[in-house]
Amino acid sequence: LFEQDEDPEESLQERPPVVVVMGHVDHGKTSILDAIRKSHVTAGEAGGITQHIGAYQVVADGKVITFLDTPGHEAFTSMRARGANLTDIAVLVVAADDGIMPQTVESINHAKAAGVSIIVAINKMDKPTANPDRVMEQLTQYELVPEQWGGDVICVPVSALTGAGIHDLLENINLVAEVKELKANPDRRAKGAVIEARLDKGQGPVATILVQKGTLHKGDCVIAGTAVGRVRTMKNDKGQFIEEAGPSTPVEITGLTEVPSAGDLFDAVADEKLARELADKRAAEEKERQFSSYQK
Ligand code: GDP
Repeated sequence: LFEQDEDPEESLQERPPVVVVMGHVDHGKTSILDAIRKSHVTAGEAGGITQHIGAYQVVADGKVITFLDTPGHEAFTSMRARGANLTDIAVLVVAADDGIMPQTVESINHAKAAGVSIIVAINKMDKPTANPDRVMEQLTQYELVPEQWGGDVICVPVSALTGAGIHDLLENINLVAEVKELKANPDRRAKGAVIEARLDKGQGPVATILVQKGTLHKGDCVIAGTAVGRVRTMKNDKGQFIEEAGPSTPVEITGLTEVPSAGDLFDAVADEKLARELADKRAAEEKERQFSSYQK
């Protein structure tokens, strides 16, 4: 039922990296996401205010970077549990005064299991008690050897508070993205995953989708998890109405008949009949999964 997953090599074009920020609580994930957003909104973007849709894009040195705006690894793991491998790069935030803590280790394990590249942001460098050398030393115990010490893990000292090092962090994300040669075919039906979803009183189900492959158009027939519908309106992360969205773009759509779950797979399909068939198939698969886990 699904469209062929493999796109021919010649159809692939460069796409922006999708980045998640992970780390121990209070080490500054939210602050770093805010600092990035504030320092890199381009002039002319509706007063520079980004609306919260669960992901946003910035431009650094002419290159677009997509950030998942959900700090913490819960979102990340629930998405992976559903099969949606969204991220290319994980920024591991470690507070320079605090060092590696239990959730830092969890984050490292999740990122490794998912096969994403790790860049370390050593945060809170403005603090007098900051000790980046100790952080780097601790990292080596988890087989993350800093570039500074001959390894391949990029460590960037930053301060979300003062903004120091934030641009350097983005430059390094671009560097890693370039090495990874991230590509997708923009000329096919859209495929992606749900980042977040809610029920709005006036608009009905509203879902933020990350398009991973292809291009999503207003009016497309879609299925998200087991929710079907047609894209009625589509907005970008700046709250502007748009007509189409290509690979690595987060968009907020209306028009689904139910509220999907974060991590649900998303597909644009040929027609509504096919959408409903697919939804039934997925619902049956879900039941099967639940039944077999109940039997264990
Ligand atoms: P999260 O739990 O990882 O999202 O951490 P937050 O971004 O909420 O930050 C936790 C606390 O650390 C807040 O009080 C922030 O103001 C503070 N904080 C974050 N980044 C910095 C920094 O670079 N320097 C200093 N001095 N404080 C910071």
